Amino acid sequence: MLAEIITIGDELLIGQVVDTNSAWIGQRLNEIGVRIKQITSVSDNEEHILKALDEAGQRSGIILITGGLGPTKDDITKKTLAKFFKAGMRLDGPSLANVERIFRARGREVTELNRRQAEVPENATALLNPLGTAPGMWFEEHGRIYVSLPGVPHEMKGLMEQAVIPQLRQRFMLPPVIHRTILTQGIGESMLSDLLEPWEDALPPHIRLAYLPADGRVRLRLTASGKSEAEINAELDIQVAGLKRLANRYIYGYEEETMEGVVGALFRAKGWKVATAESCTGGYLSHRLTLVPGSSDYYMGSVIAYDNAVKTSLLGVDPKLFDEVGAVSEPVVRVMAENVRKLMGTELGIAISGIAGPSGGTEEKPVGTVWIAVSSPAGTLSKIFQLGQFRERVIREAAQHALAMTRRILLAEPEPEN
Ligand code: ATP
Repeated sequence: MLAEIITIGDELLIGQVVDTNSAWIGQRLNEIGVRIKQITSVSDNEEHILKALDEAGQRSGIILITGGLGPTKDDITKKTLAKFFKAGMRLDGPSLANVERIFRARGREVTELNRRQAEVPENATALLNPLGTAPGMWFEEHGRIYVSLPGVPHEMKGLMEQAVIPQLRQRFMLPPVIHRTILTQGIGESMLSDLLEPWEDALPPHIRLAYLPADGRVRLRLTASGKSEAEINAELDIQVAGLKRLANRYIYGYEEETMEGVVGALFRAKGWKVATAESCTGGYLSHRLTLVPGSSDYYMGSVIAYDNAVKTSLLGVDPKLFDEVGAVSEPVVRVMAENVRKLMGTELGIAISGIAGPSGGTEEKPVGTVWIAVSSPAGTLSKIFQLGQFRERVIREAAQHALAMTRRILLAEPEPEN
């Protein structure tokens, strides 16, 4: 079965928005055994959209379209589809109820423009979009399937997972496909791949492995197809057990788990509380910790000691240390962790001090140098990291490493070498 993707929007053509929708859809369709024949991006122009629809229909049986479904005048996909199919418009009841629900929840009036979001061409089956006001639309004409989806990535993904993929699988009797995601931390992609080589080489051809590195961690995704879900799950259980035998010390979670969620569960299980002292991350670690619902059970607070004066006044860092060893140093970060712990009366204190850049680096301490310390009843552990040149990445990876160190302390596991 061949498919095409058409993404619509001027912003895609001028590079203002990168077309991640096609990449994601391409990957997901490939996983269920649908081959992508072509990806096309077109402007918000009726003539261009009509031409792209016509040409795609000549090549492929499934045409997926994203973007241009908003209520504003520049969003013309819906009216262009109606013209393409020579169809009038109808108001879709469930889609209207969805629009009204969303506006009620935000305490806003539904305007005529908003109501029109629930209109679809007469020949379309509306696909309910609980995450947004624009419904997806499923058309079947001349033996082909056309599906129009919102451009907003999380709305598009929701509709694909909930409606489009299950319907395509059922229609074309595609074999079931199951994914397992294993989350690792503390080992780079290439070293992990060396470690896993014997296991990876022995994987059967219907089980594929992808390495997905981001923010100081590597996600491993296994994708398997087979006769039945039970059979695939049994096979994946065996493969995950084999993977764990080689890499268990780097695995911190599975599927959609987050490091802050895993750490939060450990704090709760131990009945411990935590406080943070952050310099270069400016509160980002606290943000990660407080993303977890119920984090007030264990998270006490933070001192954002960005300026050295605050490191001294609130965290008791001896100002002499700034001249002798600098703010980004082991002695300073240890005092920060130990004193924030005392200040807030917690079992754990986590501190980060680093050079996020782009300026401030020296030969001895280049941009990306980050010291992290975790103080606990067992003592204070401190580590240095080199996290590269990019400010945002340094901040994100520093928080990830701090959480990973915290997790190992909560589990009383040793730290791996950098
Ligand atoms: P809405 O109902 O929110 O208006 P829409 O279907 O009209 O949705 P667009 O207006 O085309 O969608 O795009 C909304 C936003 O979604 C864009 O500003 C952009 O950030 C993102 N977006 C659109 N198309 C893509 C794409 N192909 N890849 C990644 N992001 C996209």
